[in-house]
Amino acid sequence: MNKREFLKAGLVATVASQLPVKSQAKEPVAVNKKKAMKNWIWINPNLKDTDEDLKTNYAAYKAAGITGIFFENDSERHFRAAKAAGIEAHRWIWTFNRAERVADHPEWYSKSRNGDSCADKPPYVQYYRWLCPSRPEVQEYLTSTVNEILTKDYVDGIHLDYVRYCDVILPVNLWDKYKIEQTKELPEYDFCYCEVCQAKFKEQYGNDIKAIQYPDASLSWRLFRYGNIIRVVNAISAVAHQHKKPITAAVFPTPEVARRNVRQDWTNFKLDGVCPMIYHGFYKESVSWIGDAVAEGIHVLDGKFPLYAGLYLSDFNNDEEVRSGIQYALKNGASGVSFFGRVTPSVLDILKQESAAFKA
Ligand SMILES: [Zn+2]
Repeated sequence: MNKREFLKAGLVATVASQLPVKSQAKEPVAVNKKKAMKNWIWINPNLKDTDEDLKTNYAAYKAAGITGIFFENDSERHFRAAKAAGIEAHRWIWTFNRAERVADHPEWYSKSRNGDSCADKPPYVQYYRWLCPSRPEVQEYLTSTVNEILTKDYVDGIHLDYVRYCDVILPVNLWDKYKIEQTKELPEYDFCYCEVCQAKFKEQYGNDIKAIQYPDASLSWRLFRYGNIIRVVNAISAVAHQHKKPITAAVFPTPEVARRNVRQDWTNFKLDGVCPMIYHGFYKESVSWIGDAVAEGIHVLDGKFPLYAGLYLSDFNNDEEVRSGIQYALKNGASGVSFFGRVTPSVLDILKQESAAFKA
């Protein structure tokens, strides 16, 4: 019995001792129940892959314990090849950060505290084109987009990325890259202050955001924005569940960092699983921080849905560090991992060994 099972068994024993005799008889079954492990890979399908490549790669993934792939683009051939190998094929989409409506609906795009729109003045990088989550038209557009994707029989589920506001604070490792010091919330990176958001905030909280001296310190303004993202996610979630297909999301590494840096309150999303991007290098943290981040997520989720630790393979210096990252994730309650980056045969071997060791 490993430490986690020991703790679990101990907890059940404590609860059981307070229950009537009749219920106690059922408890040993619960103790023996193993949590279902799942492991994922984020992939942009390479259309040059041959059928033979796909067959070989996916068979190797399956053998190593990869149970699902998040595909960043549609490719029926890739999806079907994954399914033929016994792997779930989910469609990974960019949710709020998407540029395709800039030309016909520039008013759908978020505005900064300075009044600049992502439609014509994107923050940080050209591809940062954030839709405003307050607008009913945006929600309608996103739910119908997801509905269309999930109507396809070869798509097993939907995976949301960029499901948040623009980063008001970037991960610390990027401050040098963009030559910006973000020790406080700067107005040009703080969103969304469009007319619709201002009106809705006033309607819900009775305050004019423009009249608040320190909007970055207004707790109700924060709550308002968490709620805007949650509402859209839950509407998309309802669509997924109408199709009887699961919905998952790639989110910021811990509930606290997600709310603070990108106004993403993911523990209140209605999901079937979550993949926090616990990319330790982005935050200048060591591998052991993966365990801390997983523990925080598991604590706040309190069993609502499973957590799969997102690992950025380029952040690890060698295979032994990858092994250690997987161990920290599993020991702290993750139901598996999700890899971003180049998944080598040795990474697959490590995953197989560590999953087996954890289950033993
Ligand atoms: Zn807005």
